[in-house]
Amino acid sequence: VKKLFKGNIIFSKTSDTLEALPLHYVAVEDGIVSSVTPFIPKDFADAQIIDCENKLIIPGFCDLHVHAAQLSNMGLGLDKELLPWLEDYTFPEEARFSDTRYADKKYRHFVKLLWQNGTTRSAVFTTIHAESTIRLMELFSASGLGAYVGKLNMDRNTVPALKESTAASLENTQKWLTHCAKYFQAENELVKPIITPRFVPHCTTELQKGLGKLSLKYNVPVQSHLSENRDEIEWVKKLHPESPSYTAVYDEAGLLGQTPTIMAHCIWNTPEETALLASKNVWIAHCPTSNMNVKSGIAPIQKYMNQNIKIGLGSDISGGNTLSMPSVIRAALQVSNLYWVYVNQDCPPLSLFEAFYLATKGGGSFFGKVGSFEKGYEFDALIIDDTNLSDENERSLPERLSRYIYCGDDRQIESRYVRGEYIPEPFS
Ligand SMILES: [Zn+2]
Repeated sequence: VKKLFKGNIIFSKTSDTLEALPLHYVAVEDGIVSSVTPFIPKDFADAQIIDCENKLIIPGFCDLHVHAAQLSNMGLGLDKELLPWLEDYTFPEEARFSDTRYADKKYRHFVKLLWQNGTTRSAVFTTIHAESTIRLMELFSASGLGAYVGKLNMDRNTVPALKESTAASLENTQKWLTHCAKYFQAENELVKPIITPRFVPHCTTELQKGLGKLSLKYNVPVQSHLSENRDEIEWVKKLHPESPSYTAVYDEAGLLGQTPTIMAHCIWNTPEETALLASKNVWIAHCPTSNMNVKSGIAPIQKYMNQNIKIGLGSDISGGNTLSMPSVIRAALQVSNLYWVYVNQDCPPLSLFEAFYLATKGGGSFFGKVGSFEKGYEFDALIIDDTNLSDENERSLPERLSRYIYCGDDRQIESRYVRGEYIPEPFS
């Protein structure tokens, strides 16, 4: 199927540049971009034209770190730091997901909100419950949005309702992966499983190692948390005095880059840990709204970018207070400004282009050729009608993007596409 999308085309090729092409065509064949041109390519003469007029066509947003089961806690309990917040807010809510009917209701709302906010791909944590995790995967499939979805693992230091034995945690994960291998692992599948140990304090070495083996056996990526909060890091030191660092604990367990790996936060990494992440090709999910809310700190993202580490942005609901990726982009820009002023003058603030890149092509790279309109990329796109943000003066496309990112929200998103397909509002 051939389609032509006509409008003002905006996307990133590199982290510090922006392609902004007024009234161009994106030629898409079977969901894949074949070219971006000022005229209709010869072999697309008969293609369907989707005329977006003077609107912006930008890549769909990628959320590289989000907890689906924490949606109902959004905006609550953020006067606490990470560890007490987990105890008081997160665990009681996550425990409710043993009830698949409750999970179904909450997860429908979650998928709907991702759609509303223009997040076309996401890397998602659920809870320890395999059955409700599968339910979320089915809901994603029905919606047409792309996602990696991970059943959580926890076998120590958590509340009884969420604690699995080591053996049960591994067995339930293996069963879940076997189910996924049957229903969610076709080459072109948009919804896939991801191995998800919550973090070191909640997973014994035996469980971590077992999960590392499962990631290889089923060829499934891995996501977890790393170096978010200073009390958490001290805790890891006490639990693993034998290990040179928090990052090394994951590495020794086979959970660091054996398969594609996302580590959320990475605020307090030592230079050795950062080098280890770089050598293992780990993606960092930068979650600035969450890091401010639960008082974790500021990740030195510009420094990591200079070391060629792959980075995406995460909403980290409900440490984060919004699913809107433009809001997360804004927060990334603002915390990087303060980091430069107050912490390290050698770490310059992120530019708008860089932060936009992180939320599209940067995070998108975890999903394949996603997050850009270069030839060969999957056409995930948002049509942005920014009329109600206009000041009626002549504005360049980068200025219009800037205003949308700083001042816009879901109301400007007119339509969403994933791999060339129009995505209607789910479950309506
Ligand atoms: Zn998280």
